[in-house]
Order: sequence, then structure tokens, then C-alpha cells
Amino acid sequence: MKTCAQRVEYYLKQIKEKNNELNIFLEVLEEDALKRARELDEKPQEQRGKLFGKCIAIKSNIFKEGVVCSCASKTLENVKAIYNSDVVQYVEKEDAIIIGVVNNDEFAQGSTGEHSYFGKTLNPKNTNIIPGGTSSGSAAAVAASMCDIALGTDTGGSCRNPASHCGVFGLKPSYGRVSRYGVVDSSMSFDQVGVLSNSIEDMDLILEVIGKQSERDATTLQIEDFTSKNTKIEKIGILKGVDELIADEEIKKIYHNSISHLKAKGVEIIEVSIEHMKLGVAAYYPIVYTEVFSGTRKFDGVKYGQNINEVAQSELQLRMKGGELITQSEFEGAYYKKALAVRELLKEEFQEVFTQVQAILLPTTPKLPHSFDETLTPEEEYAYDAFTVLANLAGICSGVVPKAIVETTRGNTPIGMQLMCNIGEENTLFSAMKLLK
Ligand code: GLN
Repeated sequence: MKTCAQRVEYYLKQIKEKNNELNIFLEVLEEDALKRARELDEKPQEQRGKLFGKCIAIKSNIFKEGVVCSCASKTLENVKAIYNSDVVQYVEKEDAIIIGVVNNDEFAQGSTGEHSYFGKTLNPKNTNIIPGGTSSGSAAAVAASMCDIALGTDTGGSCRNPASHCGVFGLKPSYGRVSRYGVVDSSMSFDQVGVLSNSIEDMDLILEVIGKQSERDATTLQIEDFTSKNTKIEKIGILKGVDELIADEEIKKIYHNSISHLKAKGVEIIEVSIEHMKLGVAAYYPIVYTEVFSGTRKFDGVKYGQNINEVAQSELQLRMKGGELITQSEFEGAYYKKALAVRELLKEEFQEVFTQVQAILLPTTPKLPHSFDETLTPEEEYAYDAFTVLANLAGICSGVVPKAIVETTRGNTPIGMQLMCNIGEENTLFSAMKLLK
């Protein structure tokens, strides 16, 4: 086994070689990481933590004390975190090494990795196509072998969508599974800290460290802390009507291959129905717009940073203005309340489905990632989220398994499949992901 210092040096070399082109890391904590690695190497075997020597990259909306947490926005361009987020504190306590801060769509708004103030991140697997977002840098860092594990956040698919496009594993834990203390919110009733990794084992391992209640985050689930154990998977559901929502044949093919693969492993595949599935995107966005508007009012440039209304880029501007409009009294009940009602219906429907099956299989995105020279309207971009937002609306957990790299007109294109499990059932999720792999 390599020493911690050798591991850090290896990743630093990867970053040095590739970061100029790929634009993944916003800041590399070279000296800190090396110093810490050398200290860890001195630690006696029996005192070593669960994440000993694992090199971790963090999304730029996660606080590490003394390090800039720009959220990839001009708004907080030079603002440094004054304390550690719970997740950083937890992983460091278990001897992980934070190697740097990675790029993302501004304030975690978007689906493509193109909306950072610091420029787009390229997809290490194919530099013509988007890496996906908003945790673009987190997925790309793992895909480009620049770290062992990356932390991201997932509001409506931001860990899973880039995991699929970059060909790595992605996890959105159940809402409240992981503390968001010290994480800048994007949309507080949906956000969850998630994981990008090259293996399910690493994902499982880090969730054991970060998946617990926190006194500093009242939204953390009041359930037992996550401890890893295998679950026997017997029944997996597929959703009625998914096929007609898939826009690209390649995805349809991998989805059906995945069904056959699971059947061959002895899993019973049961067709179940989420009637309001098609309303996912329509319900998600009014809630996000509203929460983005209210959540960003604190960035008025008075206490720190610059006024977000003046310096934010177009996608964030659209959402802040949209949120302001939606919350005006003349629209009361027209959008936000209806969206909340659909969210409740979806929650109930998922609870009913999970009485019949242990997990649900579905594609990650309905369409293949576009190339950088294609320009999408906001509606076209939001269409990527049709399958991922369902888990955030229902508060359940979900993970992505890389399934194939297909040759398309845009070149090599990774495709990942998604599994969803009930609230707090990450063990079932990991077991199902291992079967799907
Ligand atoms: N694409 C979704 C959105 O734009 C999800 C973003 C996220 O998960 N942070 O809101």
C-alpha cells in the first residue's frame, strides 16, 4: 500500500497535468494536503480512522475553514469559510485529506456544468460533451482520477446527473441523512450532501462517517445513524410509462439491458406506477425558484461578498426573478401551493410503491448529454431533471451506477442507471446498486 504522502502526490500530479484543460479544481490545497498526509503517515496503525488517507475533493458550496467557498459565483468570489462544515469535520476526524475545492454551476443551479462564474468544467471522458451538473467538478474530479471521493450536493439531481454523464457512481442520500451545517443552501427543502466515487464500497464507507444526526442541523433525520449492512434484494420496481419519456434510444437500450441483468441475477421485476411522475419537473421548479429567491436575499453585499442581484449570471438571475414573481400575492396559490400539493401526492405514491418493492430502477436522465456547441433553452435544460427530481420531491435516497459508454454522434458518451429506495434505506440502495453494477 502506498503511503498517504505518495497518494496525495499522485493526485496532485494528475491535477497539475489535467486541470488547466478540464477546469475542475478551483483551488488545490497542495501544501495543506501534503502536510496532513505526512502527519497521517506517522499515525500508528491501531489509531487510524475509517477514511485513513482517502483524498477528498469538496464542492465549492461546502465550508472548509479558511478556504474560499465561492459557490462558483462572483458574489462570494473571495469569501472564506470561517468554520468547518459538519461533513468536513467528520471526514477529517476519520483521517481523510481534503485535497481541494471543485467547480460547479453557480450556487448549485443548473444541470450541465456550464453555469460557473469560473467557466465550464469539461467532461474527462469526452471533452465535447457536458459533464452534467451542478456537481460537475465533483464528478469530473473522480472521473479524471484526481481524488478518491468527492462530495457534492444534490437538490434535484446534481450528484446523479453528472455521475451518469462522467461515468462514475453518484449518491443522493435521503433528505436529512447528512448534515448541511456549513453547506450553502441552494433550495433548502431539497438539498442534500451527496457523494461521487469510483466504487460503491467507498460510497458506503463515507456514508458511515457523514450519515448521522447533527445537533447543528435540525433537518437531519431522527433515525439511527447509517451503518453498513447487506440487504437481500428480491423485488425491484420499474415505473409504468418511463419508456415514453426517454428521448434517446441509447438510454432506452441500456435501461432494458439493466432490467434483463437484474432478472438474470434472480430479482423479480415488478411494474409499479407513480401516476404523478410526469409532473415532477413542473412541481420542482416553482419550489426551487421560491426557495432560491428567499435563500439568496442574505447575499446583499452588506456583510460579505457582492450583491447577488448585481453580479449573478443568467440562470441564477432567472430563478431569483422568477421566485420573486411567484411569491407576489397576486399569484398566491397559483404555482407554489400547487407545486407543494403535487409534492405531497408524490410522497404518498412513493410510500405506497415501497410497500410492493425494495427499490425502483429508472434511467438517470431522459436524454443524452449535449455537446458544448449546442445551446439549450432553460426548459430544455430542465428536461434533464425529469427522473432525478422525483427522489428530492419524495425525500427518498437514490444512487447512480455507471452502466455503459456508448458511441454517439457526439463521441463516447457514458450512461448511468438510477435506483431509488425509501427514506433511510441506503443499505438497501447500496445492495441493489451492487446487483445492478
Ligand atoms: N438541475 C436541477 C436544478 O437546476 C438540480 C440542481 C441541483 O441538484 N443542485 O435545480
